[in-house]
Formats: sequence, structure tokens, C-alpha cells
Amino acid sequence: MSAPSAPRVVVVGAGPAGVRAAQALVEAGLRPVVIDEGRRDGGQIYRRQPEGFTRGYAKLYGSEAPKAEALHRDFDALRGKVDYRSETLAWNLTPGELHTVRAGEPQVLPFDALLVCSGATDRLAPVNGWHRAGCYSLGAAQIALKAQACAIGSKVVFLGSGPLLYLVAAQYVQAGAQVAAVLDTAPARPPLAALAGLLARPRLALRGLQLIRQLRRAGVALRKGVRPLEILGSDEHGVAGVSVFDAHGDVQRFDCDAVGLGWHLRAETQLADLARCEFAFEPTSRQWLPRLDEDGRSSTPGVYLAGDGARILGADGAEAAGRLAALAALSDLGHAPGRALYQSQHADLRRTLATMDRFRRGLALAFPWPQAQFAGLPDQAVVCRCEAVTAGELRRCVDQTGSREVNRAKAFSRVGMGRCQGRYCGHAAAEIIAHACRLPVEDVGRLRAQAPVKPLPMDTREVLS
Ligand SMILES: Cc1cc2nc3c(=O)[nH]c(=O)nc-3n(C[C@H](O)[C@H](O)[C@H](O)COP(=O)(O)OP(=O)(O)OC[C@H]3O[C@@H](n4cnc5c(N)ncnc54)[C@H](O)[C@@H]3O)c2cc1C
Repeated sequence: MSAPSAPRVVVVGAGPAGVRAAQALVEAGLRPVVIDEGRRDGGQIYRRQPEGFTRGYAKLYGSEAPKAEALHRDFDALRGKVDYRSETLAWNLTPGELHTVRAGEPQVLPFDALLVCSGATDRLAPVNGWHRAGCYSLGAAQIALKAQACAIGSKVVFLGSGPLLYLVAAQYVQAGAQVAAVLDTAPARPPLAALAGLLARPRLALRGLQLIRQLRRAGVALRKGVRPLEILGSDEHGVAGVSVFDAHGDVQRFDCDAVGLGWHLRAETQLADLARCEFAFEPTSRQWLPRLDEDGRSSTPGVYLAGDGARILGADGAEAAGRLAALAALSDLGHAPGRALYQSQHADLRRTLATMDRFRRGLALAFPWPQAQFAGLPDQAVVCRCEAVTAGELRRCVDQTGSREVNRAKAFSRVGMGRCQGRYCGHAAAEIIAHACRLPVEDVGRLRAQAPVKPLPMDTREVLS
């Protein structure tokens, strides 16, 4: 147990960033609270299989098996030294207090420092027909495989862009699933600036090329520079295929019974938003990100952000960022052992993170968000799947109500008001509104997060009263 005067530090997330943050806090003599809504630790990439499943590390994590094993082993060793609360959702944040709920039981946790290591989710762009049964995000397709050892369909097309597109497709091939095609909206030749960024981590870039070779060897149709037309099928029977314009402008159709969609990742920033952290628009990735200093300090004193929830740096970057943010928090709190660790380690950690950030920018340029796609989205295409709001309704909202800002358009159309709270449709809705207003996307703002950040059980009366 730490002394009664020890600072109260809470970590949200038990992925690579959260585990390394907790480890640094324990090394400095603290007993932090670690909250995670998941059943087991490991986060997204190093997701642990459910108890009772016995697949080995090499099978589950491939080339990343040693890192996954190390993270799990280190967290197991921390178990008695942290107050770990699994299956606990951090659903709200008020100054100095984190609001959580576990199995319907609410709890308010006061903190002196909060480390938000909340990870990322898929970044999705709507395609006409993507509301049909059989259409999943890439992440969901991967989780089905990792957690439950099953594929999303018997013949799958992967459509989108980014490293996860190729990785998940290769994992499906390895698992024996039939992959009909991998359709990438990124141009075949990335700009030079992208290559410069990708060379910051040459081994990782090489691994990407190996995945492509592996897919080619397996006979998977690979197309770059495509423009999605439609997820074919019917509302009654679900997905039957995908049609796209290829790089030459010809229409191509690929039959399948399931589609995995995704355009790289987006940071989970709702808690940062509720903490009133300042955000800035980043043109390279065309998204709003919390303002941070080199160590992960947000603009709100006492709130630190690390890992993919702050910047999509990948798992290695998340581990370094989690440790650095934890040490920065201790140093700011005047905690002597923590400050000593910070002073001896921050320079190396910052250097590591700078390299990871160059790579992140390279990826964003090589696999760009398909901004041109939104102008051509037909009016009947669903944008917000939770509330069934179409592109046409959003355009009418701009024309008829003069909504030139996303939160106003949300009030009139209900876009982003459903279960996902705009996490999956928010970026696309902003693009459609901006195009309809003829404004740059940064000028129509961003959807503000609201509590609860994720759906709560209905019987949590104390929380809602
Ligand atoms: C769907 C998906 C699949 C990916 N697959 C790969 C892959 O195969 N290979 C690869 O190299 N990279 C992959 N990535 C990227 C990789 O997962 C991340 O780079 C890495 O996991 C980042 O670590 P992190 O600790 O920042 O976040 P995460 O590992 O995502 O951990 C965040 C943790 O925070 C918890 N959390 C979030 N919000 C709350 C809340 N409000 N309350 C309580 N708990 C909360 C989550 O349950 C989660 O356990 C994937 C990312 C995603 C989103």
C-alpha cells in the first residue's frame, strides 16, 4: 500500500499504453487504479483470448507474439500492486473526478492525475449499402477472429485503406478463410513525403510489403486507387458483393457474403473532450486531435493522454507514451521518486515518440482519408447507422436549416446521436456538411462528446438521476 499522502492516480485503459503507465507508477511506489471496460487486459492489439481458449501466442499474435507475451506477463506481475477494475466503464469526467460503472454499480473516483489511455477505433467512411447485414468494420472482423476464432463470412471482401486493411486480410487468409479481394482507395504510388515518413520505421514498412506479397501469393485480388460504388445485396438477404470504380475508371464487381470496411483508425477522444482539453485540427489526417505537449500533458491540468487515444502511433508508441505520461504526471505532482525517473528517462522516450510520429504522418499520407468520396455519395446512402440518417438528409439540413456547423446539424438531423455517439459517423458527417456548405472541413467544427461516452445499462438509476 502507498502512504496515505500518495497522489491518487487513475489510469483508464489496460492496453499497451495503460499497462506501461501503471508499471511506471508502481516502480515509483504508487498503487494506481487501472480501469478497463474489457474483460481482460491487453487492449486491442494484445487482446487476450477468453478464459478457456488455448491458442498459443504465435498463432494469436504472429510476429508480435513476444511483445504480447511480455505485456501480459508484466501486467500479471503488477496485479497485486494496482487496483485493477476490469469490466468497468469510465463514462463521465467532471473536474477531479472520474465516473465509472461496473455491473450497474456506479462509482466516482477522485484523482490528482488522470492518465487517459483509451485507444482507438476504426475510422469509417460510409459506402452506399454499408448498412446491410454482413458489413463489419475491419476491427470487428479482426476481433471475431482473435477472440472467437471465427470469420465474418464464407467469402469476404476488405475495402478501405491503411495497414489494418492488409493485416486483417492476411490474418483471414492464414486462418483459412476465403478472401475475395482487398480494395484500397489509396493511390498506387504514395507521395514522396509519405515514403520519407514510412522510412522512419523501415522494418515495419517492410512488414507491410510482406503482407501484400503474402496476399498476392494466396491469389487474393488486390486493387489500389479504387472508388467505392456500392455494397451490393438487399436489406432482406444482406451483402452479396462490392462494386467499385477501379483506378482506370472501370466498374468492377466482387461477389462476397461479408465486407470488412475501414480507413485506418481514429483516436478515442471523448474523455479528453469531457475533460475540456483543447483540440486542434490536423490537416494530414483530417481529424481533430487533443493538443498535447511532448510528454502527453493535455491543456487541462492533471489530465494526461497517451497511446492511440491521443495519436495513432501504434502499439510500440503506445507503450513509450504511457510510460512517459505517467512519469510526467508524477513529476508535475512533485513526487520525488517519480521525478527522478522522469528526469532520467524522458529524453529517450521523447526521441522514440518523435520517430513514431514521423511514421504516423507517413502512414496518413500513404493511406489518405478518402475525402473526395463524400461529394459523390448518393443521397440515399446511410451515413449514421445508429439513427439511419442519410447523406441526403444531411444535405437538406444544410439547405433548409442553414446548419453550417456539425453540432447544429446533429440537433436538426440526429446524426451522431445514437449508440455510437458519432464515433463512427462523425468524421464522414462533417465532410458531407462541409461539402454542402462549400467550406473547408475544419470550419464546420467537430462533434462534441457528451456523457455517457458509451451506452450505460438502463438500471443504473443512481448514475442517471
Ligand atoms: C480494431 C483495432 C484493431 C487493431 N489491430 C491491430 C493489429 O492487428 N496490429 C497492430 O499492430 N495494431 C493494431 N491496432 C492498433 C493497436 O491496437 C494500437 O496501436 C495499440 O493497441 C494501442 O494501444 P493503447 O494502449 O493506446 O490502446 P488499446 O490497446 O486500444 O487499449 C485501450 C484500452 O482502453 C479501454 N477503454 C477505452 N475507453 C474506455 C472507457 N471509457 N472506460 C474503460 N475502459 C476504456 C479499452 O477497453 C482498451 O482495453 C488495432 C487497433 C484497433 C482499434
